Amino acid sequence: MGYCGMIRIFTSLTGRIIILSNQLGLRVFLCVNMAESKIIAVVNQKGGVGKTTTSVSLAAALGLAGYPVLLVDLDPQGNATSGVGFTKDDRDRSIYPLILGQAGIEDCIRVTEFRNLSLIPSHPDLTGAEVELISFLGREYRLKEALSSIKDKYSFIIIDCPPSLNILVINALTCADELIVPIQAEYYALEGISQLMGAIKLVRERLNSNLRIRGVLLTMSDNRTRLSQQVIDEVRGFFQGDVFDTVIPRNVRLGEAPSFGKPIQYYDDSSTGAYAYSALAREIVNKRLPEPQI
Ligand code: ATP
Ligand code: MG
Repeated sequence: MGYCGMIRIFTSLTGRIIILSNQLGLRVFLCVNMAESKIIAVVNQKGGVGKTTTSVSLAAALGLAGYPVLLVDLDPQGNATSGVGFTKDDRDRSIYPLILGQAGIEDCIRVTEFRNLSLIPSHPDLTGAEVELISFLGREYRLKEALSSIKDKYSFIIIDCPPSLNILVINALTCADELIVPIQAEYYALEGISQLMGAIKLVRERLNSNLRIRGVLLTMSDNRTRLSQQVIDEVRGFFQGDVFDTVIPRNVRLGEAPSFGKPIQYYDDSSTGAYAYSALAREIVNKRLPEPQI
């Protein structure tokens, strides 16, 4: 909130700026919608680095902060789907027919019980989409096209990617504005990173020139070990300013929450995991991006 002469400017959580003028007893209310819609893909072809935990926890934190969020589960494993309390058995209303152009997007979106949080669930049959998409013209753009009609309804669309660099992930990179790359704070943290950076570069050159890395996110850090700190230093050295200040700690509650079908904030809002993902959400809302890196 700031003051500017007789004009007060309030920035609300929904990203609207309200300007009130009191001059001559006149009040002017002007609402400008500043909440630009952003598609953020959470990506790393390495398995078990915290992609789903980050997608679900960040989506919930942004929803709690007042932003309408759509969580898209692009992984046939469907862990983000079950992580917000849905089953993976409704094939006809999942991402699978949507990406093949066999379902309307409105039919596939579910409103969750969590504040401002909707979901496009996954289904195990999505594994077959890679083969099925081969015959499609413009197969890299299927997700972008599917999401285009609803993009403006949400402040954030968060895509949980599978541990792969397959056509599903290329679809996510093609439609995303920004990427979050979770990296586990352990030995071999940077293993496979050059392959991922290569894929991002190719997508930028050929399919989506606007694609930016919003940030590398260090996950599952154990503050008690010197190893975690060494890895954090190594990753910060490698990516320079592209690493989030927030580091996600290893936290038992984060590991437990999915089995209750709840994001961490609804499972244990006083846990270190919940605090960390709220801090990440704040960083995402507040951090200005540098110019494109191409
Ligand atoms: P996959 O590549 O298989 O999709 P992923 O990258 O999505 O995996 P997650 O499923 O988020 O990774 O995390 C892997 C496992 O580690 C899960 O059991 C999850 O509950 C647990 N986990 C993730 N982050 C943390 C954390 N900060 N502290 C403790 N456990 C965590
Ligand atoms: Mg996952």
